[in-house]
Amino acid sequence: MRIKVLGCSGGVGPGLRTTSLLVDDEILIDAGTGVGDLTLKQQARIRQIFLTHSHLDHVCGLAFMADNLFDLIDRPVEVWSTAETLSAIKEHIFNWKIWPDFSKLPDEKNPLVVFSTLQPGRSLESGDHYKVTAFKVQHTVPAVGYSVETGHGTFVFSGDTYANDNLWNYLNSLSRLDKLMIEVAFPNEENDLAETSRHFTPALLGRELHKLRHKPEILLTHHKPGCEHLIEDECRQSLAGWSYRHLKRGDLIEI
Ligand SMILES: [Zn+2]
Ligand SMILES: [Zn+2]
Repeated sequence: MRIKVLGCSGGVGPGLRTTSLLVDDEILIDAGTGVGDLTLKQQARIRQIFLTHSHLDHVCGLAFMADNLFDLIDRPVEVWSTAETLSAIKEHIFNWKIWPDFSKLPDEKNPLVVFSTLQPGRSLESGDHYKVTAFKVQHTVPAVGYSVETGHGTFVFSGDTYANDNLWNYLNSLSRLDKLMIEVAFPNEENDLAETSRHFTPALLGRELHKLRHKPEILLTHHKPGCEHLIEDECRQSLAGWSYRHLKRGDLIEI
């Protein structure tokens, strides 16, 4: 499994894209502004998209990608997420006011996009190689993370989350965990904002990681633009003893 980080920042700016991961050229996990770096041909190869939650930094690329797909694909793109997330993006984005409903275009029988529900705790066998499982995390809106299991190993993406035992209980239930991509959005001095917006700080993540029985490589994401260096400094202390790195747009994760 080869995962390309199209975007993993907490915002946009020169060289910064928001969350989107390309798995083996066929699957997207989240569809933030990173989708904009894919060529049309690459966008047409995407068969499935798994969304962690409805926030704009994780879904806005889907709107623009869907608009590109007329005449490029001969089967719809499957968009998987929880019922709450799908309901939110249908009501607030693909509502014919903010953007067209691409699940009804070019016509209802041959749509460009098909929305499908994957509730927390449920798995999907994807292609011949992957088992994708959604698990509940805690954020300001209903949100999940995803594990992707193959014969070679297990990759987990937390999505946006705050401290919650469900996350660690799920991770500890896995038979193996090779790479854990997890967010750390704010520096410690913004602890109150992190709590309100349900994101991790380095200190909180460091404390919570004691609950994890596995020793995966930790891949850190979603840093607030402008705070990257401070977060890196704080992680040196809070994540001492862990194998970790700060992801950047364009990085590859191989399992
Ligand atoms: Zn969010
Ligand atoms: Zn986010």
